[in-house]
Amino acid sequence: MIVMSGTKVAAKIRKQIAHEAAEFSNRRGRAPGLAVVIVGDDPASHVYVKNKIKACDEVGFRSFHHHLPTDTAETKVIERIHNLTDDPNVDGMLVQLPLPKHLSSERILAAISPLKDADALTIENQGLLFAGRPRVKPCTPAGVIEILKHYDVPIAGQNAVVVGRSAIVGRPMAQLLLMEDATVTVVHSKTRDMRAITQSADIVVVAAGKPRFLGADDFKKDSVIVDVGIHRLFDGLCGDVRFEELRAFARAATPVPGGVGPMTITMLLQNTLQLAKLRG
Ligand code: NAP
Repeated sequence: MIVMSGTKVAAKIRKQIAHEAAEFSNRRGRAPGLAVVIVGDDPASHVYVKNKIKACDEVGFRSFHHHLPTDTAETKVIERIHNLTDDPNVDGMLVQLPLPKHLSSERILAAISPLKDADALTIENQGLLFAGRPRVKPCTPAGVIEILKHYDVPIAGQNAVVVGRSAIVGRPMAQLLLMEDATVTVVHSKTRDMRAITQSADIVVVAAGKPRFLGADDFKKDSVIVDVGIHRLFDGLCGDVRFEELRAFARAATPVPGGVGPMTITMLLQNTLQLAKLRG
């Protein structure tokens, strides 16, 4: 089985991004800029934000870290987003999710300018994606496609199954596979006999958010399996798939950690660069 390393693919793409960021800085007299807004003190979210800021530094982007207290009023968060929209040094921005309970993520995401939407989560950018002409692509699904391409996994004409239909992973994943000419099926918690469907697939992308949920019995021999899930259990990190069962069975699969995870921030950098170039 080929172990598809997102760590390797991410390093290759980040090198290219750093090169293009240097060119951008030379031409425009400023580096591409990403602003990250975080509300509250959720420790996991702070780790994610720290990693995003570090990734910006590594490829030569400017980053702007906005930490607001947990009890910040929604109007204040939205005001901060509007200030960033007006800031000429900011090309892309994101609001770290989840938000404290008193804030509506729907209203807050709606305040982000689609022209600075680095996570590709605004309704306009989702609409463009589903119309088949994306401005930017949701980071995790875009990272999955990059991994498949890097490892020369044929996508066109293949039967691809996506497990999960969330707005952040499952649905855009299905659309990106469709745009690559796969024949796509989406399964979810209400699907009957899911195993019969995943067992017939050439490519399965698993984003169910359930630790070690699927194993060799759920897949076709020599299929390609991408595990988006990530869970911190008492004995370490694991995905939605029982990776070890696949070794003598699958054609290729992504591990956890070191699979899809490192690609998500890489695609965030890619989107920021793309938005910077589009701003002209
Ligand atoms: P989510 O919003 O919880 O969605 C999970 C999806 O899986 C839902 O559509 C749900 O169906 C479906 N599902 C749940 N149980 C199922 C079952 N028994 N059979 C079939 N489908 C089932 O999760 P998410 O945000 O998409 O994230 C999924 C996983 O990816 C999580 O582990 C998350 O931590 C991870 N993730 C990783 C990255 C990364 O960078 N590696 C990024 C994002 C997410 P219903 O719609 O019917 O409820």
